[in-house]
Formats: sequence, C-alpha cells, structure tokens
Amino acid sequence: MIANFGYKDGSGEFYIAIDTDKCNGCGDCIPACPSHILALRDNEFDPMADDQMVVILDEFRKKIKYACAACKPDHAVHSLPCVNACAPVAITHSW
Ligand code: SF4
Ligand code: SF4
Repeated sequence: MIANFGYKDGSGEFYIAIDTDKCNGCGDCIPACPSHILALRDNEFDPMADDQMVVILDEFRKKIKYACAACKPDHAVHSLPCVNACAPVAITHSW
C-alpha cells in the first residue's frame, strides 16, 4: 500500500509517499537526507511484514515543505537525494 506523510494547505499538497510493498527497510535513504527527517520503524501498515519501513519522523510531518526546501527550494523538478538513494523506487513526492 501507499503510506502518505505530510499535509495540504492553501499553498498546495505536500506529501511524501512510501510504497510499503517496495520499501525493504534497507535504510539507504536515511543518511542521504540532509534534513534528517527519515527513520526506520516497524511497518504499522502491514503488521505481518518482516522488514521495517522508512517513515517521516512525526515532528516533520506538518512541515515537510520547509524541511525538504533543503533539496527543492522552489517548485521546479529536482533530483532528490532520498529518491536517488532508493533502488526499489519506493519514495515519491507530491510536489
Ligand atoms: S532506500 Fe527505499 S527501500 Fe531503503 S529504506 Fe529507504 S525507502 Fe525503503
Ligand atoms: S527531499 Fe531532501 S530533505 Fe526531503 S526527504 Fe528527500 S532528501 Fe530529505
């Protein structure tokens, strides 16, 4: 399934989506993130899953627009470190 972390407001929709079927808990995206907003947790979306999955830390979920400004300060298309680090292509961004 797709786990969405983020929010929407008058300026847009700001979600990071993790495909829980593709995320294998390798953790490669975590050190790639300059804002340190990613962490591994038990897969609460699939309690039967053996692997952990990556999540956005609670304290950043309502401000990821600002946290991710380190990688994308505007709305242009960027090459994102978290996406580039993820070989299974489990991470997508809504903006
Ligand atoms: S790099 Fe991809 S597969 Fe590995 S923990 Fe991060 S999201 Fe999951
Ligand atoms: S876009 Fe940058 S700051 Fe946002 S999660 Fe990815 S690596 Fe981290």
